[in-house]
Amino acid sequence: MSRIDDELSDELKTLRAEGLFRQLRCIDSPQSPRVNMAGRPFLNFSSNDYLGLANHPLLKEAAIKAIERFGAGAGASRLVSGSLAPHHELEESLAAFKGVEAALCFSTGYTAALGAITALVGKGDILILDKLVHASIVDAARLSGATLRVFTHNDLGSLEKKLQWAVSHAEKSANRKARVLIVTESLFSMDGDLAPLRNLADLKDKYGAWLMLDEAHASGLYGERRRGLAEEFGVANRIEIQMGTLGKALGSAGGYIAGSRPLIELLINRARSFIFSTAPVPSAAAAATAAIGVVRSAEGEHLRQRLWTVVEQVKRGLVDAGYVLPPVRSAIIPLILGNEQNATVAADLLHKRGLFLPAIRFPTVPRGKARLRLTVSATHTAADISELIAALAELKQRS
Ligand SMILES: *Cc1c(COP(=O)(O)O)cnc(C)c1O
Repeated sequence: MSRIDDELSDELKTLRAEGLFRQLRCIDSPQSPRVNMAGRPFLNFSSNDYLGLANHPLLKEAAIKAIERFGAGAGASRLVSGSLAPHHELEESLAAFKGVEAALCFSTGYTAALGAITALVGKGDILILDKLVHASIVDAARLSGATLRVFTHNDLGSLEKKLQWAVSHAEKSANRKARVLIVTESLFSMDGDLAPLRNLADLKDKYGAWLMLDEAHASGLYGERRRGLAEEFGVANRIEIQMGTLGKALGSAGGYIAGSRPLIELLINRARSFIFSTAPVPSAAAAATAAIGVVRSAEGEHLRQRLWTVVEQVKRGLVDAGYVLPPVRSAIIPLILGNEQNATVAADLLHKRGLFLPAIRFPTVPRGKARLRLTVSATHTAADISELIAALAELKQRS
């Protein structure tokens, strides 16, 4: 073995000892409530495909047609030669869906965060993040060179202190005044709780800051037109930068930024993850456009209602089994177990019973806050739910 392998093997050993080792599991079927792994069927409670669109016939048909008309690859970056009709159609659909002037699609939500944040703030500017924002936002913040401040999760008092500090410390640079940008999520990905959006919007206005809101887990699920929690709380037109992914409730792949036309034009010119990366494949863009069509239709409303029914049934069963759950309506239901090893053991036990429900550990969540992250879909059946509740009740009795 070479020296690199020796050294890396030691590092892997440490990860194993800490209960932090991760492994890929090959799924040999479409993403849906029931998946096949290594020839065995599993009940899947781990996906972010909340509306069951990843395997929806209309999305598949749109993807296939796009391949037939536009081919498999995009060929280049959008600014070079890869700006295909499916990307433009997707952006028009996104802007209409979100009720904004314009939108820009990226290959992933991760690169949307990276591109947008580094384009909007840099040295001399101040970025204020919620403690629990997604890794894509944390990575973008570090890369941006802006001064970074973190407020206690969903704590308005803590945020206001950071804003007061920011207003007195924002440096004036030669060509423009310093920016203060707050970035948070509307529905938090590992805890399933909601940000106090109205108060956040009031605070950012009071201090003249900008607000970027990541709706990765909320778009398609909340608000009268299913635009997200910004719509549900009536603050969408006060948020400067709306972000999301096409890979969760929208069942496809990609990320987006939505907002004003100047914002989008600036990103086309400055977002490096957009400029220096091959455009999304046409089939992914077309599938996402079809997904927006489904979400906006009567079927989209039906799927959302069905999802909330499943959520209520699962939560009732878990409370009856002795679990303590957060009091919000969310398709993400965290079962906090604390210790990393406990979470891994629980996930393995469920795996033996044919349930796929992963242990989420550091660094995705803080050390000592390991959990089973249970997510449900509109396409889970009553039988699926009963099986889940029975397995989790048994797990609770063992602990
Ligand atoms: C999943 C996720 C992203 C990244 O989106 P991808 O399209 O999966 O890259 C960004 N923010 C949050 C909150 C997420 O949960």
